[in-house]
Amino acid sequence: MHYADSVIDLVGNTPLVKLTSVTKGIQATVLAKIEYLNPGGSSKDRIATNIIDAAEREGLLKPGGTIVEPTSGNTGIGLALVAQQRGYRCVFVLPDKVGEDKRNVLTAYGAEIVVTPTAVAPEDPDSYYSVSDRLAREIPGAFKPNQYSNPNGPLSHYETTGPEIWRDTDGLVTHFVAGVGTGGTISGVGRYLKEVSDGRVQIIGADPEGSVYSGGTGRPYLVEGVGEDFWPSAYDGSVVDEIIASTDAESFEMTRRLAREEGLLVGGSSGLAVSVALKAARDLPADAVVVVLLPDGGRGYLGKIFNEKWMRSYGFAPESEGSTVRDLLA
Ligand code: PMP
Repeated sequence: MHYADSVIDLVGNTPLVKLTSVTKGIQATVLAKIEYLNPGGSSKDRIATNIIDAAEREGLLKPGGTIVEPTSGNTGIGLALVAQQRGYRCVFVLPDKVGEDKRNVLTAYGAEIVVTPTAVAPEDPDSYYSVSDRLAREIPGAFKPNQYSNPNGPLSHYETTGPEIWRDTDGLVTHFVAGVGTGGTISGVGRYLKEVSDGRVQIIGADPEGSVYSGGTGRPYLVEGVGEDFWPSAYDGSVVDEIIASTDAESFEMTRRLAREEGLLVGGSSGLAVSVALKAARDLPADAVVVVLLPDGGRGYLGKIFNEKWMRSYGFAPESEGSTVRDLLA
């Protein structure tokens, strides 16, 4: 019989698929790595597994312990999934702007959530940061993964994502593109691919326009999960050759095209990454192989990027739905 002993064993080994429509006019091969096929639905399953394994090894997390982290997104799902399988409690601190659907996903996996007000300063005792620090201090046996500074985050990509890309391209990959949030993905994959190719593979970070990585100050942008207003220690700029920015409009348009033209229902940071990958691939020769990582799926964004009303309310002009059936019935 062929089966996994635990859902955790299904993390990683995600496939590459060639992009064939959005790449029209480009000579290079552009391959997308589909991270939404991880069991928790994102690349963050990888870091969750690695961070918890390491915390167990180092004695930071003991049987019956509690994982406390300020996170509302994919990292929470990954941590909740691993915690549940290993018998840990999970407490996540979220700002009140996080929608009900996202809260429900975390509680569905068995996590407890604490909601904090958005409209207070970071140093306020009720803030997102203060509350998670206090809980981590006061709950006995608490462990705080801190994805922005935990070296086991990038290490998980060095040990799994990077080798998978090298293996699946038979070492022919020439460029790697990923969005930069904590920086864990680009730093871990980048370091591996640089080492294994003697520096030949070019590492390109995709950044939402306005974020620090592309020279901004963290001015608000709408793409989720990428860009920062500070420099996290999980980010290692020494393995990154270039950072290319895209606007929200470019990222969202590409996100919608990936669903319609490539059959890939993915999140906005995937649209950002592909938009940047195509900018990088534009002038590359036919023997270039660009691998672009798509971090999560699109289901969490149906009310936003895939909703015309929401798109228009932010001034984006999504392509017309052009319903021929509606015209026929009129
Ligand atoms: N996209 C999404 C949807 C994410 O949740 C994250 C993680 N913050 C990223 C991209 C960026 O990955 P990393 O933190 O490894 O830079």
